[in-house]
Amino acid sequence: MTRRYVVFFRAVLIALVLATAPLVATTVILNDYAVSHTQFEMEAIGERYIARAEEAITETVVTLQQLDRDGVKTCSVEDRLNFMDEVQAKGMINAIGLVDASGRRMCIVPDMEMAETVILPAARPNGPLVGIGMLDQEYRGARSAIVSWDLGNSTRLYAIIAPAAIAGDPGPEYFRSFRRAELTLGGNLRWFSIGGFTTSSGNPDETLLANVKSTHYPLEARIAVASDAAGKLVEPLKLVAVLASAALAVLFVAIGIWISWRPENEADEEFSKAVKNGEFIPFYQPVMDIENGSLRGCEVLMRWQRPNGDIISPGQFMAFAEANGHIFEMTRQLMVRTAVEIGDLYETRPDLKVSINLFAGHFKDRQVVTDLKAAFENSKVSFQQVVVEVTERYPMDDMDFARKIISELQALGIRVALDDVGTGHGGMAYLQKLGVDIIKIDKMFIDSLGSDDSSTTIVDSMVELADNLGMGIIAEGVEEEEQIDRLLELGVTAAQGYYFAKPMNAADYIAFAEEVERRVAADNDQAEEFSSMEMGGFGGEEEAA
Ligand code: C2E
Ligand code: CA
Ligand code: CA
Repeated sequence: MTRRYVVFFRAVLIALVLATAPLVATTVILNDYAVSHTQFEMEAIGERYIARAEEAITETVVTLQQLDRDGVKTCSVEDRLNFMDEVQAKGMINAIGLVDASGRRMCIVPDMEMAETVILPAARPNGPLVGIGMLDQEYRGARSAIVSWDLGNSTRLYAIIAPAAIAGDPGPEYFRSFRRAELTLGGNLRWFSIGGFTTSSGNPDETLLANVKSTHYPLEARIAVASDAAGKLVEPLKLVAVLASAALAVLFVAIGIWISWRPENEADEEFSKAVKNGEFIPFYQPVMDIENGSLRGCEVLMRWQRPNGDIISPGQFMAFAEANGHIFEMTRQLMVRTAVEIGDLYETRPDLKVSINLFAGHFKDRQVVTDLKAAFENSKVSFQQVVVEVTERYPMDDMDFARKIISELQALGIRVALDDVGTGHGGMAYLQKLGVDIIKIDKMFIDSLGSDDSSTTIVDSMVELADNLGMGIIAEGVEEEEQIDRLLELGVTAAQGYYFAKPMNAADYIAFAEEVERRVAADNDQAEEFSSMEMGGFGGEEEAA
């Protein structure tokens, strides 16, 4: 059961990893895309600012050049009217006027505050033809730029570029509130800036920057955007990715569960079906009286008879049946079938015993008492003929409760045998605590009888103990004639083993019992001494594969 859960959890874990991998990959790809796409957008914004500024400057310079060429270069009424025409014709020009050599204003059209103020630097000999500077007036983050044209007579024509020509917010919606854009002249003279996000406030690792420079004028556009703002671009896609991965995870987990549970479920289903179909049947192995050659009874050993006729030994299914709890129903069926199959034989021979194997799980509640009653109470086999075997091989959890069940069975007349004695945990203490009636000496000790002195000693002390406690004793797995001689010497009178017979079906067991009866009767008639049993002609099972 626990192994099953380990497999199950491993499958779930693998499924989750499989589902998370695409999510991680998608997130990386999307983040990458977000950054490169945002960077691209930022460059585009910078280029637009530069293009607009270049266009405004170039057009203003061309306008001033044209006025110079047309001789419109004084503060006369006529010239000022011409300036007015130009201001009205060129949207991006706010005003046109003249300054003297010291940069002081001489006139301006349309007339505005600034009278006599110095608005341009003083003229220098061999200074540039075109000058560009900034005024303090500001409109929506943009200042007014001033462009001058040297007339060569120490006066200069100038024009003020409208801040609106440069202001505006051409960035895409998704990062508008996270960005800062600025346009500078000559490296640090601010023409325009917008946006609350400043590059100095944030971690530089988390800020994307783009710089675009003009090839014609000393103009530079700088755009900064917080990286997480870029992430906003792909947020809806990320949500889709998360949902898709969650769906994948559910799918993979479902597949994992299916794969990890299916085989056992199928095996379990197949097994349940076999139980329901009554495929688990009793075989009977005779227990002999080795003093006089008569039959003492048998042990019931379970076999799985497949529909195709195959006979399967308990070694191949018993552990599974016990672990999955099928054994309870199997044992019930086995007892009922045994009572029916050997009923006639046993009804007329009250000394014959039949031994049923139980396991530790049977001693955890009283159900086994009910089951035994249901099988034998109204059958031709009496409780006095029934023995239950409990193995010493595996320990019992609750010895006190087991003892109670055993007492209850003994009160009905059922005897209790301890199986596989000498192999297990409890040893002699176990025997006494459980209060069993019979001990079955394991084949391991019988095998080495004669060849191994310690084995003889152990069997000897078991016999002594059994005598002292008033218990019966049965030797298991007898295969050689010499073993019988040794057992008799040691005082053991009951034995079971291939030497006498292998486990066999009911019909063969009944025939075997009748044949033994005839032999014993014949032997007695002829007053012959019993020496050994010769078991020809009985269809016991072949050596287990
Ligand atoms: P076990 O109770 O110790 O049964 C004796 C086993 O030894 C049987 O194996 C029997 O066929 C085998 N055997 C008997 N004489 C000889 C012999 O001379 N030489 C050899 N080599 N083997 C011999 P089987 O029938 O394969 O059963 C194996 C085990 O399965 C049993 O051991 C018992 O622990 C378990 N088992 C069998 N039937 C049941 C059952 O109905 N309920 C439960 N809980 N366990 C069962
Ligand atoms: Ca047994
Ligand atoms: Ca045994």
